[in-house]
Amino acid sequence: TSPAYDDNNIFAKILRGDIPSYRVYEDEHTVAFMDVMPQSPGHTLVVPKAPSRNIFDADPAALQQAITVVQKIAVAVQKAFDADGVYIAQFNEPSAGQTVFHLHFHVIPRLEGVALKP
Ligand code: 5GP
Repeated sequence: TSPAYDDNNIFAKILRGDIPSYRVYEDEHTVAFMDVMPQSPGHTLVVPKAPSRNIFDADPAALQQAITVVQKIAVAVQKAFDADGVYIAQFNEPSAGQTVFHLHFHVIPRLEGVALKP
C-alpha cells in the first residue's frame, strides 16, 4: 500500500491558494493550471480537488469527473496551441515518476517532429 496523503504537497498549497498558479479551468471538483516547467508549450495539469495521493487512493467518482475535464482541456489545448496531437500522462509513486503527491493528469500538446523538453 502507498503512504498516506500529505496535505503539505505543492498542489494542496496551490488548491488552497497559498501558492499562485495560472488557472485555466475550475469547477466544483477539479482545477486545471499551467505546469511551471512545461515539457511543451501549453502543458497543463488537471487536478481533482479531493485529497488523494494518486490513482491508488482516488475515489472512482472523482476519477470519472477528472477524466471528463482532461478531455475538455485536451480539446482546448489542441486548439489553442494548434497541436498535431496531445499526450496525456499520469504517474503513481516515485518509481513511476511521480514527484508531486496529489493526483494529477498531464495534458501536453505535441507538434509533429518536435521533441518534448526533458
Ligand atoms: P509528476 O508528479 O507527475 O511527475 O509531475 C509534477 C509536475 O508538477 C511537474 O511537471 C512539475 O513541473 C509540476 N510542478 C511542480 N511544482 C509546481 C508548481 O509549483 N506549480 C506548477 N504550476 N507546477 C508545478
